Amino acid sequence: MKIIMLGAPGAGKGTHAKGIVEAYKIPAISTGDIFRQNIKEGTELGKKAKSYMDAGDLVPDDLVCDLVVDRIGKDDAKDGFILDGFPRTIPQAEALTKALEAKGTAIDYALDIEMSDDAIIERMGGRRVCAGCGATYHVVNVPPKKEGICDKCGGNLELRKDDDPETVKKRLDVYHEQTAPLIDYYKKQGVLREIDGTLGIEGVSKAIKEILG
Ligand code: ADP
Ligand code: ADP
Ligand code: ZN
Repeated sequence: MKIIMLGAPGAGKGTHAKGIVEAYKIPAISTGDIFRQNIKEGTELGKKAKSYMDAGDLVPDDLVCDLVVDRIGKDDAKDGFILDGFPRTIPQAEALTKALEAKGTAIDYALDIEMSDDAIIERMGGRRVCAGCGATYHVVNVPPKKEGICDKCGGNLELRKDDDPETVKKRLDVYHEQTAPLIDYYKKQGVLREIDGTLGIEGVSKAIKEILG
């Protein structure tokens, strides 16, 4: 099963991609996580991506497309994958369609988690990410057992640098301008499924399970 997670920043793509991983045993591939890991390790890619990410802009397509096409060609993705945060522009979607076409395959589902900008802005203030392992929490919706500490690795929970309110607003503008057109792109391919992102963790998980079967 080949799945794409669509939705604004903070709609819950990463959280629910992880739920699908557990249920369907296919890897979740998050381009945001890949970039953050590269920044942490100080790689060339990380150095190139950082200024765009900190400003709330998209990293240029040419830094993203080959990376994802390579990644989905790996052995663990041969039975399927979930892409979280890719594609984010029409050229990225076209590159993905082309790469899959070359293998005689295509995306099965584009899951669009829908939320208003106001709901996103309200929710984003509570997102916390582990500095150690990257696990995501929410101070109200997904609290860790011990405040400020990751359940999985004991690392410190932090506010992501690009989650300050000003950068979130910028990212929402970028989303509406560059990423929202993908909704129509995948609707035309007949694979779009819409999910109400305000349903809560349980509600969204249930809606996704009903779609994927
Ligand atoms: P969120 O989950 O909040 O939407 P991500 O972790 O997916 O954020 O992405 C963080 C940042 O990484 C983005 O704002 C962007 O700068 C960069 N990024 C991630 N994926 C892509 C992509 N497919 N194309 C361009 N930039 C990307
Ligand atoms: P994205 O990957 O789309 O940027 P995340 O998965 O990081 O979004 O979720 C954003 C924040 O909202 C996180 O703090 C997460 O714990 C929380 N969250 C995710 N899905 C839900 C949901 N369905 N209901 C309530 N909170 C959620
Ligand atoms: Zn951790």
